Amino acid sequence: MRLDKYLADMQIGSRKEVKGYIKKGLVQVNGAIIKQDKFQVNPDEDTILYQGVKILYQKYFYYMLNKPAGVISATTDKQQKTVIDLLQPTDFRPDLFPVGRLDKDTEGFVLLSNDGELAHELLSPKKHVEKEYFAEVAGVMTKEDVIAFAKRLTLDQGEKALPGKLQILKVDEVNKTSEISLVISEGKFHQVKRMVQAVGKKVTYLRRDRIGAVLLDPALKLGTYRPLTEKEIISLS
Ligand code: URA
Repeated sequence: MRLDKYLADMQIGSRKEVKGYIKKGLVQVNGAIIKQDKFQVNPDEDTILYQGVKILYQKYFYYMLNKPAGVISATTDKQQKTVIDLLQPTDFRPDLFPVGRLDKDTEGFVLLSNDGELAHELLSPKKHVEKEYFAEVAGVMTKEDVIAFAKRLTLDQGEKALPGKLQILKVDEVNKTSEISLVISEGKFHQVKRMVQAVGKKVTYLRRDRIGAVLLDPALKLGTYRPLTEKEIISLS
């Protein structure tokens, strides 16, 4: 890899800026000042310093974000706040994107990454990666609903959902409300809301708690994020 690409990838500056830093002699490779921007480096073996500070190479970034309601799952938007807008300036990279979408009013686990291959693996309808949701529902969820969800529910427009694992966590018979957990392995548009609607009830609050084997960290406040651990990254891929 070219030295200027290495430094630009690590956000030391734009490609043009880092070429300038290299020319000025601010960059060392294995203890020697290198002034050619196209100098070839090996990220696994070479030690690169910028202004005396070691710059480690990291190709892919993975963040677990606890999305609040009111924020959209997009990279940029002229009017609305996006999940990418929640990143601190030091963590922002133009290649980060949300892996999959949550509705604007849904809270919970959004994975932010620049790893297109992992995104493909997680989002491919063929891979059936599980996602777990917690929902509050207007209406009383029943044992019959659990059975209906375990089969192929017919959604509006006649679309069929894959079986979902529905668990009824709480029912308030007086106020006619319920709390449920639902595990699904596909990601149709408004899927959870439409599945609940298919049994005649309405989701009033929705949160994603898990993607694959990775649980939303309960220590993450709404609107905050943290890098995935090595173990979490491995379990997703
Ligand atoms: N299902 C929904 O209905 N909305 C979401 O945001 C995610 C899953």
